[in-house]
Formats: sequence, C-alpha cells, structure tokens
Amino acid sequence: MNKIILSFDYEIYFDGSNHLEALLENTNKILASARQNKSKLVFFIDIFYLIKLEENGLFLHCNKLKDQINNMIKDGHELQYHLHPHWINAQYNKGNDHWKYDQLEYSLSDIIKIYGKSFAFDKFKLGVDRMKEWFKYEPLAYRAGGLSIDQNQEDLIELLIQNKFEFDSSVMPGLYLQGKFLNIDHRSAPKKEIWNISDSFLNESKNPNSILKEVPIMTINSNEIPFANRIITSIKYRTVSALSAKDDSVIENIGKPFDLEINQAIHPNSITFDKSKSADTLLLKYFTKYFFKKNANLMCILSHPKSFLNQSFEVFCVYLKWIDKNKNKYVLSGFSDIVSSEK
Ligand SMILES: [Zn+2]
Repeated sequence: MNKIILSFDYEIYFDGSNHLEALLENTNKILASARQNKSKLVFFIDIFYLIKLEENGLFLHCNKLKDQINNMIKDGHELQYHLHPHWINAQYNKGNDHWKYDQLEYSLSDIIKIYGKSFAFDKFKLGVDRMKEWFKYEPLAYRAGGLSIDQNQEDLIELLIQNKFEFDSSVMPGLYLQGKFLNIDHRSAPKKEIWNISDSFLNESKNPNSILKEVPIMTINSNEIPFANRIITSIKYRTVSALSAKDDSVIENIGKPFDLEINQAIHPNSITFDKSKSADTLLLKYFTKYFFKKNANLMCILSHPKSFLNQSFEVFCVYLKWIDKNKNKYVLSGFSDIVSSEK
C-alpha cells in the first residue's frame, strides 16, 4: 500500500495581528474537509508560539489554538513537533499587538551558537513537555522551522534522540537556499523516501540500529519525467515551491512572509496545497501517481494552513476525494503508521 503523509505546519506568519484568526479559520476548513472524507492528517505544531502566547498573558488566543489542536486529536489526526526558534526570545508589544524578534535567531543552530547548547536543549525540551502536558501527546517526528537542519547536525540529532523522537522530516531533497538568515543545501540528500540517520540528516546511515529516520518532503526531478514537463509547460505551470516567500501578492489577507533575504535559490519540484489553485489539482494527482511508480511506497507532502487561498480548499477537497476513490492504492498515514508497519 502506498502511504501518503499530508503534513501541515501549524503556524502563523511572523509579526502580525490577524494571523491567528486566519490560521484558525483556514485550519477549520481543512479539518472540515478531512472529516467529510474521513482523512487522516498530520499537524506539526509550532509549539513555541503557544508557549509565548501564554507567557504574555494572551490566554484567550492560546486557548483558541489549544481547542483547535484538541479537535485535531478528536478527529484522529496526528500531532508532531515543529519549532521556529525565533519565538524563544520573541517579545510581545501590547500597544500594537505585534511581536518583536531577532531575525538572526531563525534557526535552532543560531540559538545554539548565541546562547549555548544547554539553553537551546532546555527550550526544545520545554516544547516537548508542553505538548505532553497540554495535549497528552508524545511527538515522534520533528520538523525544523524553515527546514533548517544543515548546521550543528550532530547536536540536533542528539537532541532528537534525547527527546525520544523517531523521525525527522525537515529534508527537502534538491532544495538550495542561501541567504542572510538561512542556509540550506539539501542537494546531496539520498533519493529515497525514508532513510536511517546517525550523524547527518543528509546521509543514509549504514548502522541498522540507528534510532532516527528521515522522512523527506517529497520532491520530483522533472527532468526524469518528460510528460510532466509537457504538462507543466502546456498549462503554464508555476513550479510549486514550499518556501517561496517572494510571491506574497497572492496571499489573501493573511500576512506577510518573513523576508529571508535569499540571494541564491534552487527550488525542486514538489507538490503542496499552499497557494494552490484549481489547475494544480492535475499536478497533484499526476505527481502522486508518478512518485509511486518509482517503487517508493511513502510520500510526505508539506503544506501550511496559513498559505491556503480560497481556491486551495477546493483543490484539497478534490485531492482527498481522489485518494478515497483510489483507496486500493493509497492510504493517508501518520508517522506512527510507519513505525507499526516496520516490524
Ligand atoms: Zn514552519
């Protein structure tokens, strides 16, 4: 059976006032579609956002998010751990309802560099503890904010193992981003749907006893698939990229993505519901079929509720229906389903 993980990073855009409402509303629509189609989803919770809301006395906001997260659990979805470390030292300004944070604390490796390993490790663990305390949930999988796992890899792996994680899902094979706040080079990642990790996220470990596995975000090399290329050009497809923050004109009333000041970028072909429009349905189906033709039986898709356009909900719903119609081939899974199937 081909397993599809539909993962959502549950977070807001930085520095804004109405983002929380947009996140709640968009997520509610996503949850409603999933309920209708009995679909299982995975939400990577940006837990430090909730911690900061509570720390700053914004209980009403925090409780709305907690209620929604509890609804995810009730609906049978899976929670996992997401961390955008700029939240750790973020300061809230009550006067204008905005957050102030240091952009140079974008990656966990920045926090390690500036404040030391034990500070970073303590904060990370606080997030895990809150997930257990608030949601009675022990996360198995981690996704780094901004997919930033390139620096201090050995420390990060130690940290994940210490906190009993079994999966990382921060690698996007082929992705290359170099900028002021973020340096990612996932071009050398294995071309596999899952691999063992021991000292680097980007190399397959030969140690059969390694505890941690990488489940990369799906990418497809379009050069390998001439037909897809033809589809792409014929309907003038834009390449869907998970981290493309430049195209903010299409984001409807949600917020402004953080300008990462990227000066070099290679975005691999991937599929996502982010900013998707009706025509994207075709690509989503085509890439899904193609991906599994290559003997892979696990595919992880990354999307963000904050980045859904009105049309994206329809695309999402059509995709869920299509999966359901093809349930002899595809099943929507969580990370816990990988554990149980791997003897
Ligand atoms: Zn994120």
